[in-house]
Amino acid sequence: MRLITVLNRCTKFKRFVFEESRFDEHGRIMVSLRPRKNSRAACSGCGQLSPTYDTATEARLFEFVPLWGFPVFLLYRMRRVACKSCSRVVVEKVPWSTGKHHLTDIYRCFLAQWAKKLSWAEVARSFRTSWDKVYHSVQYVVEYGIAHRRLDQVTALGVDEIQYRKGHHFLTLVYQIDTHRRRLLWLGEKRTKKTLDGGFTELEQEHQRQQEAAGVEEPASFLDQIAFICTDIWKAYLNVIGQRLPAAVHILDRFHIMQHFSKALDKVRAEEVRRLKAEGKDPVLSKSRWCFLKRKENHTDTQALKLSELLTMNLRTVKAYLLTEDFQRFWNYTHAAWAEKFLKRWCFRTMRSKIEPMKDIAKMLRRHQELILNWFRAQKQFNNGIVEGLNLKWNLTVRKAFGFRTFNALQMAFPSAW
Ligand SMILES: [Zn+2]
Repeated sequence: MRLITVLNRCTKFKRFVFEESRFDEHGRIMVSLRPRKNSRAACSGCGQLSPTYDTATEARLFEFVPLWGFPVFLLYRMRRVACKSCSRVVVEKVPWSTGKHHLTDIYRCFLAQWAKKLSWAEVARSFRTSWDKVYHSVQYVVEYGIAHRRLDQVTALGVDEIQYRKGHHFLTLVYQIDTHRRRLLWLGEKRTKKTLDGGFTELEQEHQRQQEAAGVEEPASFLDQIAFICTDIWKAYLNVIGQRLPAAVHILDRFHIMQHFSKALDKVRAEEVRRLKAEGKDPVLSKSRWCFLKRKENHTDTQALKLSELLTMNLRTVKAYLLTEDFQRFWNYTHAAWAEKFLKRWCFRTMRSKIEPMKDIAKMLRRHQELILNWFRAQKQFNNGIVEGLNLKWNLTVRKAFGFRTFNALQMAFPSAW
């Protein structure tokens, strides 16, 4: 079977035919293409079929999906057309490549597919291409995806902030978290009021444009259709959401709340280790960090043993741990009223614990009580580990885009994982 037969089977270009395939002196497979007889070329400006003005003497190379490790190139002599509607001579538009790209669209989709599974550097190595080409392929697919997405079905949003580098390098992410569709909609640099405000404005504008293009007579507002929004207790976000989504049910996310507990526990433990050392006491708490950060049911045997030993000692860390464990019960309630009672009792006890980091949590929970209780009001529907799951996915993506940590690369790496 000839290679041309295979190509004809997997990809056919209207108005063009595969001519012949051969190896060149560098061991690359060259497949030449030519226009079908009497076919006219399309203007790259307006797409109209027009008479040929002239044909390039040299063929242009377009990189195709490699076969059995051999690079494959399409060879084609580009024509120019005298386009009446553009009233000038324009280079033709070819169906296998968009714009001035030297990679075929098929190859770019192919690389972008692999970039979901491997790091971009690994993709480049595996297919003997450059990191840059992988980057541009992902960019192409992402831009196509953004240009073709619809925003009119979005009714639930999740907002998350993520540190993507050491120091103050944060990103703000806006997800759609509807049960039928979960995906990233927008991401922006920093985690300020301005960031999120700008993100909302961009989504609003995009939605308007889509409705205009679809000829909707009375365009609706994007933010007005949002019924639920789920976030962390981050003041900048809370303010923006209060202003721009006053009617949406605002839910404080469970995953984020429990993250605050982990941080507080870490603080209490670190302080106590320091104190015990200063008092010359046995460093009983060293290497116990995981006992306290893990949920009980996830403990290994050694960790369980160590924990039961620690529990017999009257330590602040242990008290803080028990308070945290106790708080987990909060999430088991099904009615907001009962959850509220529990929350009040828990805060009352914690405020008398004399453990500052835990008292800070109690204060925070009291301050945002209404938003936290919304979690029960929304019947857990929009929250069940959704944002948590998105978080894990994000970390994976950051690792994959590793080695090129600019904002632009991240911006593209992210949606490509969806
Ligand atoms: Zn034209």
